[in-house]
Amino acid sequence: MPQTAAGAPHVVIVGAGFGGLEAARRLARAPVRVTVIDRHNYHLFQPLLYQVATAELGTGEIAWPIRHLLRRQAGTTTVLGTVVGVDAQGRKVELADGTRIPYDYLILATGARHAYFGHDEWEPFAPGLKTLEDATAIRRKLLLAFEAAEQEPDPARRKALLTFAIVGAGPTGVELAGAVVELAHTSLREDFRTIRPEDVRVVLIEAGPRVLAAFAPQLSGYAVGALERLGAEVRLNAAVTVVDRDGVVAGGERIAARTVLWAAGVQASPAARWLDAPADRAGRIKVEPDLSVPGHPEIFAVGDTAAITMTNGKPVPGVADAAKQAGRHAAQVILARLASRRDAMPFRYHHAGDLATIGRRAAVIDFGWIKLRGFIAWWAWGIAHIYFLIGVKNRLFVALSWLWIYLTGQRSARLITQGEADIGREATPPAKEAVSSEP
Ligand SMILES: Cc1cc2nc3c(=O)[nH]c(=O)nc-3n(C[C@H](O)[C@H](O)[C@H](O)COP(=O)(O)OP(=O)(O)OC[C@H]3O[C@@H](n4cnc5c(N)ncnc54)[C@H](O)[C@@H]3O)c2cc1C
Repeated sequence: MPQTAAGAPHVVIVGAGFGGLEAARRLARAPVRVTVIDRHNYHLFQPLLYQVATAELGTGEIAWPIRHLLRRQAGTTTVLGTVVGVDAQGRKVELADGTRIPYDYLILATGARHAYFGHDEWEPFAPGLKTLEDATAIRRKLLLAFEAAEQEPDPARRKALLTFAIVGAGPTGVELAGAVVELAHTSLREDFRTIRPEDVRVVLIEAGPRVLAAFAPQLSGYAVGALERLGAEVRLNAAVTVVDRDGVVAGGERIAARTVLWAAGVQASPAARWLDAPADRAGRIKVEPDLSVPGHPEIFAVGDTAAITMTNGKPVPGVADAAKQAGRHAAQVILARLASRRDAMPFRYHHAGDLATIGRRAAVIDFGWIKLRGFIAWWAWGIAHIYFLIGVKNRLFVALSWLWIYLTGQRSARLITQGEADIGREATPPAKEAVSSEP
């Protein structure tokens, strides 16, 4: 059994998202020392990030301090730091501040970010949603657009300010589209004097032939109808070819939109590069069946940063439950290896189902054996999400926030934070000359 200087084998887990946290919990009572490293001091419940971005929930309702979550695990140490490399020969993790942390076993659970299909220059115009900072920046952008539109005398500019384009119609894009329409149509209805909710245009853009491609086709069709009933427009088979400060070109059509949100494309963390490990096109480490990194039986990759193939040849999806199952499995393999077991232990993923909500009254759920849609599905979606939140207080607060919004339409988190609101610089469309002088 490998030993670190301090005695018990040392398991280092990089990333305290769904995969990393689950691995740490599985090792809680094991005869190992565990160090969890994360660049944030919080664990984030990403499935509800869009509700922070659209002012339904506050940041504290979907994130929890990692240190607090692991406080009862005496053998676990939490380190706030950014990992920048792994010395696989020397078995050390390298942090940005120069610290090197030795390990006997390493679990990489560093997740993924959104990707722009080789067009990184689009990012400043079309922010994506992955972190709490992204969510509050998007909230700021959305709310500033309404403020700027309220003061804008020019009809064309005002129209562009009130047009919101969302690129990518997976669950995040669909949920964002529904929430932005409802923000405009119900929550802000009485608060402005010159802009009217019906002036707001939300366009959901998808390059593929249907929304929610992972769901059954009839649920995709239902989702389009539900979005359109809410007041959103859906553009299918419309690949985005341009994103700039004036909006997007999708399917050859220019859509003048001052707010473009990106919900398409995924790029894994650079973990594969740290190890020079084989990776797929999205940068995910192609792991062995037991989730170890090829050539490194002591290193595991789980969650969104790993490319895992199921026994039927299909990829394990990038969802929270898959990351949790993989984190748990990596911990189990480590415990088996420490007990000198050498059997193969392939990871077997069990897919519970897919869920997406469309505003506050409809959702679609695809459990395979049963498919739900409409209001019943929305309730099931809500109960599932409250169940998976951490802590009684947060469950209560989120349930009450939703009930309040449901009854009154009012969202309490409509705050423009991150500095003074500078409508002129951040939200007002450029003058025509400035547009034409752009490259
Ligand atoms: C907006 C959005 C909505 C989603 N909705 C759903 C949903 O409804 N249902 C569902 O099942 N899934 C959903 N997902 C997907 C799900 O959240 C991910 O599949 C899941 O978070 C993956 O878990 P993970 O542990 O691999 O990575 P993450 O949960 O992303 O955790 C990665 C952790 O690693 C840390 N980290 C990264 N790099 C470093 C570094 N260099 N050094 C130190 N720490 C680092 C990060 O801070 C983070 O804490 C959604 C994702 C997003 C972005």
